[in-house]
Amino acid sequence: MVSINSVLGPISLDDLGVTLIHEHIVASYNSNYKAIELNYAISTLKKARIMGLNSLVEVTPRIVHVGRKGGRNIPVLQEVSRKSGVNILCCTGYYDPTPEVKKMTVEEITEIMVREIEEGINGTDVRAAIIKVKGNDFVLSKVEKKIFEAAAKAQIRTGVPIQTHCIKGLKTQFETLTSAGANPNHCAFAHVSTTWGWEGRSVSQQADFLLDFARRGACFVFDNLGWEQYVSHEDQFYLIRRLVDAGFADKVFISLDLNWRVKDNGVIEREGDSVNPESRKRDFPYLFTHGIPLLEEAGFSEKLIHKFLVENPKEYFTPF
Ligand SMILES: [Zn+2]
Repeated sequence: MVSINSVLGPISLDDLGVTLIHEHIVASYNSNYKAIELNYAISTLKKARIMGLNSLVEVTPRIVHVGRKGGRNIPVLQEVSRKSGVNILCCTGYYDPTPEVKKMTVEEITEIMVREIEEGINGTDVRAAIIKVKGNDFVLSKVEKKIFEAAAKAQIRTGVPIQTHCIKGLKTQFETLTSAGANPNHCAFAHVSTTWGWEGRSVSQQADFLLDFARRGACFVFDNLGWEQYVSHEDQFYLIRRLVDAGFADKVFISLDLNWRVKDNGVIEREGDSVNPESRKRDFPYLFTHGIPLLEEAGFSEKLIHKFLVENPKEYFTPF
């Protein structure tokens, strides 16, 4: 049995099933995870579990950002997984570089990542299943470059996949990872359908741009369903269609990239709520109530959707 790390211990690769590859349960940027958030996470995931969701990949690493604290919280992830019945895979890596990481060498960052994958996170025996890194712009800052190189080196040693926050800068991110030895077939770039990262390219030029990297092995996470303020469904599906038609269906992942926080009045606010009413519907069941139907309406077959949600994640997590 090939096994991978979940927050409740190793699971078989075959148990991944329908997998959302880019989600956040603990990105609420509060220093303390509140009961109301916890209950929301459990209830929305329970509903999605009944509808067919098996696993989700929690890609919130440490978060240190002006005005934001929180991020990865292993006991919360364990409780949510236990109570919802959904497998949760957690990550090592960095969102915004912490003050300590700025002073570290590539080797030191690599050691931290490897330790969190092979031994455990924060003194627990919960091991990371994936490395998450973030680039902010079209070029990587000095410290981001170090983190990307460390991710590649940690991948070489552990065989786990890498996922990046990549609204902008696919070219630099891809080249930094692959020149440091990362396996592009196990590197997925998220948010690439967000129009403000296209550097002025039209949708067909953006498709050509993505295809160029797909040919070199890169995988992409399409996570803007119901977020048409970032890209229209029409354009998002056009990008996926172009990849599929060119023979790269195995490079496509679908996810929701859910984020929420509790406002001072106790109300749950989801990312995008204030600018797009559709965002208010975006919870984990949204994949089944809206996401899959939208994909079907756009002409993607059941077989293809199964590939995006089941086969591709399995392939991506297969240790190499
Ligand atoms: Zn995200």
